[in-house]
Amino acid sequence: MTEALDLNGQIALVTGASRGIGYFLAKELAAAGAHVVAVARTTGGLEELDDDIKSAGGQATLVPLDLTDMAGIDRLGGAIYERWGKLDVLVANAGILGVISPLGHVEAKVFERVMAINVTSTWRLIRAVDPLLRAAEAGRAVVLSSGAAHSARAFWGPYAASKAAVEALVRSWAHETENLPLRINAANPGATRTAMRAQAMPGEDPNTLPHPFEVAAKIARLASRSVTETGAIFDVPQNKFLHYQMPQ
Ligand code: NDP
Repeated sequence: MTEALDLNGQIALVTGASRGIGYFLAKELAAAGAHVVAVARTTGGLEELDDDIKSAGGQATLVPLDLTDMAGIDRLGGAIYERWGKLDVLVANAGILGVISPLGHVEAKVFERVMAINVTSTWRLIRAVDPLLRAAEAGRAVVLSSGAAHSARAFWGPYAASKAAVEALVRSWAHETENLPLRINAANPGATRTAMRAQAMPGEDPNTLPHPFEVAAKIARLASRSVTETGAIFDVPQNKFLHYQMPQ
């Protein structure tokens, strides 16, 4: 993954593109030549992204969508099919932290929302775009995970469970498609200077953390056709893939 990222003629869908890591991932993919389909709820953030991408000569289509709207995700898949007949790159980045709290104090609606946005919408997106990625020459998918999926951290239960579930989806999907040209991986960005991190760690000095631009530049490489790994996690802080044991 050392040569310049070239996504000319490719279509890339990025969720959570209105701010944070997703915003810079969308910019990075557009700068590499992809037409970016940018999804989030906040139209202001999407419009800012659109201005950024277009002023650099890139192309974007904005999709204001709440990812808890599962039928909306299905419609998005249909619209991409109608317009392009394929999807080259999926970046399932949108996510929420929920609450940092002892499990016994987590409200049911908060737990359910974390699962709906982080897990169910990711599965629904996978279901909607799987045929579109198969229709591309070399489909690539990147799903944002977290170190919390693996570490035993008090009070992070709902978020950690959701990210462990997302990695399980990545493993299954990668195994289902391993004999195809598709490559499906998770990415752990590590602690990054975003609104989510500030919510999780309000006492932390954000200036001690990497800017989402730096992190996104590394994760965007997973969209390259030169990626051979599938079903792995790209760990940004370690700058390497961590591999799962695939069953024989
Ligand atoms: P931010 O909170 O900065 O951004 C989250 C993005 O997700 C926003 O664009 C938001 O858009 C979108 N989003 C949230 N809820 C919905 C929804 N219901 N429908 C559509 N879009 C939604 O988060 P980060 O950039 O920090 O995180 C990006 C990813 O990286 C997440 O999956 C996170 O778990 C992961 N991560 C982040 C780390 C960090 O330190 N920042 C560390 C480890 C993992 P909008 O509100 O406009 O809908």
